[in-house]
Amino acid sequence: MDVFGKGTDEPSRPLLPPGTCWICDNSPQQEEMKVIDTRRNTQAGGALSHVSIRKYVCEPCVKQLGEAMGMVAAEVHAQVARDGSDAMADCVKLAHELSEAREAQTRVVDADEILARIEKLTKPAPKPRVPQK
Ligand SMILES: [Zn+2]
Repeated sequence: MDVFGKGTDEPSRPLLPPGTCWICDNSPQQEEMKVIDTRRNTQAGGALSHVSIRKYVCEPCVKQLGEAMGMVAAEVHAQVARDGSDAMADCVKLAHELSEAREAQTRVVDADEILARIEKLTKPAPKPRVPQK
């Protein structure tokens, strides 16, 4: 099998008879889509016929077949990969922000602890006990 048509190294190729997609029977427009040449022929009218029909498959049929098999288009895959990469970048950024917030929280706790120590140091000294007579 090989691929030709729009976006390939071979954008145009004369189609062998009947020049249609084996699945949908439409004539693939090579300037608009990729076309698969299966490089297989069939005999129209059965084994005794001398009329050979080339089996092509057009891009829309390939996409439908791929979707039916659970495959995704390259554009969809690329978008999902970009979304995943963006989500990973967001995750790293959030992890960094969380780390900074925890550090800041530690500083607040430290500040409270320091204030508590200062308060303890500045408390008036207990009154001396006066021995009873
Ligand atoms: Zn088709």
